[in-house]
Amino acid sequence: MPTAKVSEVNFLSEDIFELVLERDRVEFQPGDCLAISNSDGVSRPYSVSSGSREPHLQFVIRRMPGGAVSEWLAVRAPGDEIEISEPFGWFRPGRSGEPGSPSVLVATGTGIAPFLSVLRSCPDLEPALCLYGVRCLADAVGLDYLRERCPLSSTFALLKWLRTLYFLGFR
Ligand SMILES: Cc1cc2nc3c(=O)[nH]c(=O)nc-3n(C[C@H](O)[C@H](O)[C@H](O)COP(=O)(O)OP(=O)(O)OC[C@H]3O[C@@H](n4cnc5c(N)ncnc54)[C@H](O)[C@@H]3O)c2cc1C
Repeated sequence: MPTAKVSEVNFLSEDIFELVLERDRVEFQPGDCLAISNSDGVSRPYSVSSGSREPHLQFVIRRMPGGAVSEWLAVRAPGDEIEISEPFGWFRPGRSGEPGSPSVLVATGTGIAPFLSVLRSCPDLEPALCLYGVRCLADAVGLDYLRERCPLSSTFALLKWLRTLYFLGFR
């Protein structure tokens, strides 16, 4: 199994963190995942959120209480080595229709990762619409960047106790 060195673990909210790994020579396409293993060899897939020409590998991860891998990743430190798989995947955001046809990005929570990857990889891509649902505004990742890249975008938070849909912006 290849390994990668941890560069950073940045918490964006109580539960959501960005894991940044040194990239070495890993080649991937936007939409790809890597299986990341904990020290017991338990692995889970995580979607790459960085661009295909960026110097690092980045992931957006939700720490699941009691989760075997996400809890372990949440307490990694710079310099730690972790086992990763080769990139794999079939989801190809921004490329499913006819060439030049408009793209609509729809994601919730950490599911924004492959869309961030395609936007960071393809500077010319201008999605027609981006709809991004989060549990609370603090969980929204890359909001300023998404608004900059998607002329028409909306973030909405479903507050689970109130079961109310709040729209937090549309432009
Ligand atoms: C293609 C793909 C891409 C993905 N990309 C991402 C991504 O970019 N970011 C991301 O955050 N996630 C992503 N995931 C989800 C990720 O792979 C993991 O499923 C997630 O991180 C939870 O794994 P874990 O090992 O931390 O938790 P697990 O150990 O799998 O546990 C999950 C939850 O179940 C509970 N649980 C476990 N065992 C039991 C039991 N016996 N009884 C009751 N409860 C139990 C745990 O306490 C925990 O809350 C992706 C999944 C897929 C399939």
